[in-house]
This record gives sequence, structure tokens and C-alpha cells, in this order.
Amino acid sequence: MSRCLHAPRSAPRYLSRQVPDDRPVHFYTHPACLAHDTGPAHAERSERLVAVVQALREAFPAATWHEAPRASRGQLQRVHVDALLAQVLETHPDVRIQLDADTVLSPASAEAALRAAGAAIAATDAVLQGTARRAFCAVRPPGHHATADTAMGFCLFNNIAVAAAHARDAHGLERIAIADFDVHHGNGTQAIFEAEPRVLFLSSHQLPLYPDSGFVEERGAGNIHNAPLPPGAGGTQFRAAWQTRLLPAIDAFRPQLLLISAGFDAHWRDPLAQLQLQADDYAWLTRELLVLAERHADGRVVSMLEGGYDLDALRESSVAHVAALAP
Ligand SMILES: [Zn+2]
Repeated sequence: MSRCLHAPRSAPRYLSRQVPDDRPVHFYTHPACLAHDTGPAHAERSERLVAVVQALREAFPAATWHEAPRASRGQLQRVHVDALLAQVLETHPDVRIQLDADTVLSPASAEAALRAAGAAIAATDAVLQGTARRAFCAVRPPGHHATADTAMGFCLFNNIAVAAAHARDAHGLERIAIADFDVHHGNGTQAIFEAEPRVLFLSSHQLPLYPDSGFVEERGAGNIHNAPLPPGAGGTQFRAAWQTRLLPAIDAFRPQLLLISAGFDAHWRDPLAQLQLQADDYAWLTRELLVLAERHADGRVVSMLEGGYDLDALRESSVAHVAALAP
């Protein structure tokens, strides 16, 4: 066997296909997302996004970063009513105003919301057109609480829903799965698609916790799968919920595209919830989701940042998630 070590031969050209996929993970962000100003002491602050982008740039120095475009009104109208678009885009506040107790509209928020939703559009186009294999959108404000007509829970537009509707309406996909592992239930995403059998929505989350929805009994048109976890639950319960209930539902659905609402606030360090996940739990679930994406969706995955309010947890969890996303 040692003979091989001393007699290297140039590899046949076809073996070069063993190099990692030439359609890499693409990253999307925009400086406007930092200017959405929620005010002092608000948990959903620009430092979150700074931490995520810095950590990803350090961990993946060769990665391709794209500046997110603005979503168009027509792309937003697929999931939102005109009254919400007008509230976010045409209020033009001179100072911060509260849309509800948690949700702020600042002078720069409209542009941030357009860029966050636009990242969802561009990332979806990239993976469905084959220029990227997977995409991660490092954006804010987050999106999964926003319903068709109401901004809530720090969310203005529902970015992941905009992505799913774009995949359906612009690309003609008939089966799109959204996996949401943010510690809060993605009530907005569920409400937008609960009568849409072409979109499968799966969520693990703490319950009770804001927004106090996401019970197992909420099944929509049979396309909704909720796995509530009690306060204090950790990686073992989290993995069991996905392994026994949510991942098999994705497998049976055979999605043509897998979307991820990637909130990292189920981490044990997070100040807003009481689940006890570690970064490795996010890596595990991401790998499991990729197995299904490879099986059914040609490996196509778009992941979007949702919540996560401890900066150290955000850094290590987003890096663990994206490292597992890499081919
Ligand atoms: Zn959350």
C-alpha cells in the first residue's frame, strides 16, 4: 500500500467533481437593516445583526455576500394586505412610533423591511435558478410573527412567507416546506398559509410563551405541524420532537424547496425564553433538514434569521447552523 504514497499520479479530470459543490452558500444582508431603530433597551437591536454578520465573515472568509435588493410591492402583496404595506411604507415617521407594545416603526424601518423581504426574494431566486445551492439571509427586522394584516412581535413583513409565496407564484413550485425553530411560534407564517396545502409549516417552540399559539391541535389544512416544548426543555426533547414528528412530515411531503426560519432564541443563554438548546443542537437539526433537502429538493435551502437575543449565543449558533448548511 505504501507504494501509492511514493507514486502519486495526477488524478483523472473527472475526479475533480469530488470538490465541494460549485454552487456554494450565498449570504444576503444590507446595511439598511442596521438602521431600523427600535430604541434603547429593546431586545431586537442592531447589535444582533452586527454580531451575526461579523461571526459569519470570520468563520467563512471565502463566502459570497450579496447586498439585498428591495422587495417590490407586488412581491409583498402575495402575503400582505395593502393596509399593512401602507402602514410600514407610507407612514414616514419622524420619530420612533410603537405599532404595538413590542413592535417599533422608526424613520429607517421601511427601508430595512424592504431589504429584509428583498433578501428573501433574491435568495429564493438564487437557489431556484441554480446560482446558489443554499442561502442564508442575515437580516432584520425578523418576520415570522407578522400576519397578512398585522405587524407584531418585532416583525414588520413576514420575510419567510414572502420567500415561500415567491417560490410558489414566480417559480411555480407546488410543495414548499418551512421549518421554524425559533423559540417563539411562527404564528404569522402559520396564519398566512394555514389554508394553502402547497406550503407545509413546521414549528418547534416554547409554550407557554409569546404569542401563545402553536398547539398540536392547530393543523390548518393538514399542512401545519406544531411541536410545543415546555419551559426548561433542552436538546433531548427538541431533537425528539423533530425526529419523531416534524422531520417525518417533511419527508412525506417531499418539498421541492426547504425554507428555514432560523431563530436562535431557544439557546440556553437567551434572555427571552427558557429552552436550553446549545449550538450543537442547531447544527444537528440543520444536518437533518439537509438530508431531506438532498432527498427531495436537489439540496435547495434558504434560511432566514429570525430571533435570538443573546449576542454570544447568536454568534456561535449562527456559525454552527451555517457550517452545517455548507455542502
Ligand atoms: Zn423568537
